[in-house]
Amino acid sequence: MRNYLKHYINGEWIDSTGDETEDVINPATEEVIGTISLGTKEDLDKAVKAARAAFPSFSQTSKQERIELLERIAQEYEKRKDDIIETITDELGSPLSVSENVHYMMGYNHFAQAAESLKEFSFIENRGGHIVMKDTVGISGLITPWNFPTNQTSTKIASAFAAGSPVILKPAELTPFAAVILTEIFEAAGVPKGVFNLVNGSGSVIGNGISSHPDIDFVSFTGSGAVGQKIMENASETIKNFALELGGKSPLVVLDDADVEQAARTAVGHIATNTGQVCSAATRVLVPSSMKESFEKAVKNVLPEFPVGNPREDNRTGPLVAKKQWDTVQSYIEKGQEEGATLLVGGTGKPEGLDKGYYAKPTVFTDVKNDMVIAQEEIFGPVMSIITYDSIDEAIEIANDTYYGLAGYVVGENPENLRKVASGIRAGRVKVNDAEADFAAPFGGYKRSGIGREWGDYGIEEYLETKTILGFPE
Ligand code: NDP
Repeated sequence: MRNYLKHYINGEWIDSTGDETEDVINPATEEVIGTISLGTKEDLDKAVKAARAAFPSFSQTSKQERIELLERIAQEYEKRKDDIIETITDELGSPLSVSENVHYMMGYNHFAQAAESLKEFSFIENRGGHIVMKDTVGISGLITPWNFPTNQTSTKIASAFAAGSPVILKPAELTPFAAVILTEIFEAAGVPKGVFNLVNGSGSVIGNGISSHPDIDFVSFTGSGAVGQKIMENASETIKNFALELGGKSPLVVLDDADVEQAARTAVGHIATNTGQVCSAATRVLVPSSMKESFEKAVKNVLPEFPVGNPREDNRTGPLVAKKQWDTVQSYIEKGQEEGATLLVGGTGKPEGLDKGYYAKPTVFTDVKNDMVIAQEEIFGPVMSIITYDSIDEAIEIANDTYYGLAGYVVGENPENLRKVASGIRAGRVKVNDAEADFAAPFGGYKRSGIGREWGDYGIEEYLETKTILGFPE
């Protein structure tokens, strides 16, 4: 049992001023694996005070000092590898291999990349008549969701530290333990007191408290569009700066010269990895009408490569994070059937033999029309929609017929067609074939997928203000 009943404020683990707690459940076993304290407004105020007190000195540290701090964090992070992997598997239900190769790996890379980006980063530009300086934004409130407990926290914290901004982190109640390990990593790496503060608690109290706090200068949020809107409303009261990363309904365009089996493997990988609980997952798969049958056959062939089951065994897909998420996914599968889409594989209920745990069946709908609810709304589960197209222009039109614009994918051979589709998709990140991950590449969305960019130097920019100085003595 992990009982974390304290918050980390001003370099110390301190008791909550309230007595409310929340149990954390392992989604694979449905058993309680620990408890956290739900913080109060008073706890948040203490954290804000600590961050404010740390601001004058931390914001004035040199670039070199902050590079060294980020490098020490990356080193300490590596030392906690096994803990991080096991913790994420227990709280989120991701298979051990995914916890290692996705969650652990992404968290590490954000700290290492922030150090590298900082080396090349220029905070001052002499423009002849005037100087333009990049100045720390102030103190930052970070609100993170449950689906990537180290990725989303690490990218925000690494960028904030690189920019010299002290932070208050509120992780999701469903998966709060990875953030405790991160806190221990920061302690071991010598993060100055007050620079990192962890307040556990509910979105309605601590999350709301952060976005409306008059002494917090900047809020970075990842999560649902509904909460993103609330944050914008709250931030408007104090004209607070904010960045939002809000999910998507991303297209994967399969070109007619693509290797059909490999394209199907890519598509299934999107709904299998993290059980489809990925904001940038490709859940609308656009295939040429002439390829429909061979693609459907290939999807059925590759599905067994992604077994669903106990995340502590050799499986590729674990349970959904919580009963509530399982119910949501079930209702979308029912909706797809009501709307007249054809169920190719999967459906409602639990996979055979997996009665305990929030397991869902990987589900593929075909004959989907892009205006159906299952093609327009973010399901956040292992559900794919296959939609056909007859020309590349039509594929681009369908790809962009969405409120979202976080990511897009295109697979095929002809470079001209790959370039046309990649350039035509209105989204913050497009991946061509199996292009490798690049942690210096900006990440964020167009349209209702959000505002702002994370990762690398673009991520650091979010935590900076631009200051002009006229007549600066040489
Ligand atoms: P939420 O947007 O509710 O939660 C994300 C984070 O925001 C959590 O830390 C949550 O706290 C916090 N929060 C909740 N309410 C407020 C508030 N009023 N003010 C400030 N912060 C708040 O996502 P859900 O967990 O409810 O997931 C619902 C759907 O959102 C998913 O099915 C998916 O479609 C989408 N989603 C998208 C994500 C993405 O990566 N873009 C990530 C997660 C979800 P707490 O939960 O601890 O109360």
